[in-house]
Amino acid sequence: MIPLAKPHIDRKDIKAVEKVLKSGRLSLGPKIEEFEELFAKLIGTKHAVAVNSGTSGLHLCIKALGIGRGDEVITSPFSFVASANCVLFEGAKPVFVDVDEKTFNIDTSKIEKKITKKTKAILPVQVFGQSCDMGEIMRIAKKHKLKVIEDACESINAKYKGKKVGTFGDAAVFAFYPNKQITTGEGGMIVTNNKQVAEACRSLRNQGRGSSRQWLTHEHLGYNYRITDLQAALGISQLKKINYLISERRRVADLYLKELAEIPQVTLPVTDSHNTHTWFVFPIKVPAKDRDELAVHLLSKAIHSKAYFFPAIHLQPFYRKEFGYKEGDFFVAEKLSKTTLILPFFPEMTKKQVLTVKKSMMDFYH
Ligand SMILES: *Cc1c(COP(=O)(O)O)cnc(C)c1O
Repeated sequence: MIPLAKPHIDRKDIKAVEKVLKSGRLSLGPKIEEFEELFAKLIGTKHAVAVNSGTSGLHLCIKALGIGRGDEVITSPFSFVASANCVLFEGAKPVFVDVDEKTFNIDTSKIEKKITKKTKAILPVQVFGQSCDMGEIMRIAKKHKLKVIEDACESINAKYKGKKVGTFGDAAVFAFYPNKQITTGEGGMIVTNNKQVAEACRSLRNQGRGSSRQWLTHEHLGYNYRITDLQAALGISQLKKINYLISERRRVADLYLKELAEIPQVTLPVTDSHNTHTWFVFPIKVPAKDRDELAVHLLSKAIHSKAYFFPAIHLQPFYRKEFGYKEGDFFVAEKLSKTTLILPFFPEMTKKQVLTVKKSMMDFYH
């Protein structure tokens, strides 16, 4: 069996978690701060606030930036549902802008048409491990005085024109689910250079407690979005090998790019010349009529693959029902969601496994 994704867990990761278990300080302990400091240093922001998921992190950013009822946030329909849901959590409205067919990322040439008096922010999603056109997004945001929240959950350590993703906007969020570049099981990290935003997020993740740390004094309507010290310790251990993990992802991506170039029905992913890609998944495009059959064929050979992102957010049952979206509303996102398939992809993937995937695909297309 070749799985779709596989976290890289070694002896050091296990030891790090074991040490916390033995320490007895499983939550609100010293590992969280250490993880935050290392992460802020990695990305190059002043502050980092660890939370229990990427979704929680996005929610807190929306709230900390004062976005709420009556506000609109411009974002991408070709993403994981959390990047739009986080706007709804606070009663604001996600306004979708179609994406660029080559990079899967928001089409910046279509953003300004969607800006209204109600628009408060742009929430670009750095899809699949590569950055949006952040130069253009920041130019538009500045011109119209909009906040920017980067959903960088899939793009840890990616760069745009040599600058790290997560350093462009007012705040950014990374995530550590087991298929991401580094994992804490579940987990997320908010990064920002804005002290007020960082402080608001710290309070909101911890039941709205103030910095006085009085356990039963709640200054805001908060949540329990805390990460545990067990997870933070795993995160620290994973961070120590992040360069290795990403170089292994790059190795597998390069192998796929070389080997699958021989199959004319397959369109390979492209990296924009401004970008340093960190490869969350390996997405290929095939004709829509073949996509699901190809996935079934691969599964018959014990190879896992997945239609991604299918359906696009606006065509999710909840969004159709709530907002009346229909097919045809976002043509490129829909086309991508009908033609994109992600293949098995993880740091430990061997050349032999890549060749097995290639052979099964060649058999399908004889
Ligand atoms: C992974 C991911 C998230 C966060 O997911 P969680 O499971 O809540 O950590 C958010 N947005 C995108 C685009 C993602 O891929």
